Amino acid sequence: MKRLFCVLLMCILLTGCAEKAEPAQQTLFCMDTVMDLKVWGKDADVGIGRIISALTTLEANWSATDEKSLLSCIKKGQNIVLDVHSSSMLAKADRLSERTAGAFDPKLGALMELWGFYDKDYCVPTDSEIGEALKQTQLDLGGALKGYAGQACADLLKELDVDCAILNLGGNIQTYGSKPGGEPWQIAIQNPEGEGNIGILSVEGTVSIVTSGDYQRYFEENGKRYHHILDPETGYPADSGLRSVTVIGRDGMTADALSTALFVMGLEDAAEFWRESDDFEAVFVLTDGRILATAGAVLSGCEYEVIRREE
Ligand code: AMP
Ligand code: MG
Repeated sequence: MKRLFCVLLMCILLTGCAEKAEPAQQTLFCMDTVMDLKVWGKDADVGIGRIISALTTLEANWSATDEKSLLSCIKKGQNIVLDVHSSSMLAKADRLSERTAGAFDPKLGALMELWGFYDKDYCVPTDSEIGEALKQTQLDLGGALKGYAGQACADLLKELDVDCAILNLGGNIQTYGSKPGGEPWQIAIQNPEGEGNIGILSVEGTVSIVTSGDYQRYFEENGKRYHHILDPETGYPADSGLRSVTVIGRDGMTADALSTALFVMGLEDAAEFWRESDDFEAVFVLTDGRILATAGAVLSGCEYEVIRREE
């Protein structure tokens, strides 16, 4: 009898564990991209619900293309009273712009529109059109919004009984807590050439992993590729010798803004910028195919050169 009880208890425990190991999962289309959410723990379903609501609210507020968004109202000069989260996000965007000496510029809206990245009616503008658009200061938070969103979602999970989560916001990854089983999270870095990945990053705990790449949004004209990461100095797509930059950091909005800024800076300036910073690591894929990673990035599955602090 005692033995039967033990067997039954084991079964119950094992079933319980198996259930716990299955995450609540949801895929949605938001912020013009496919998002995949996985959350583990007692409140996982509640967590997914709150995440979706946070993401859709952020999209409704900050979409550059939705006529009814808060951002569009600001653009039209309407008198808007911002809530405390929105104004602190805008202030942070300004600080990140200052920190990167303007390489991250959250006011390139007119230029993005001119190149046709909003309505997908692409065209290569004239130099004088670019000059005019550069003088304008229309907000565009596309370079930092998904990182901010990932962080906001991780923050709201803290209030719930959730063990861990991994949120893939269109290729921008936000982890929360330790992976089930305690192993590091394994995050693939996409191959800019197409299918597959160029390597795997290992990260622990709650981290943002954000990639900016010339393959994510672009058009081609006369055999030349024009992508969506614009150099605020020239008004043209950044031509910095990079195909992609992946930033790994503890703060989502910072990681996202830096991925865009480092792409604009190019390898040398980006490496120098990293040496002067202590809040992120990065992986660079160059146009000649080389891969470089800063010393603290844990990268496997590829050959790469290490960027060190003392150089
Ligand atoms: P990301 O994929 O994070 O590099 O963000 C690219 C998006 O950021 C573009 O689609 C634009 O909305 C915006 N953007 C383009 N160039 C810049 C820039 N130099 N600084 C800040 N945002 C930018
Ligand atoms: Mg970015």
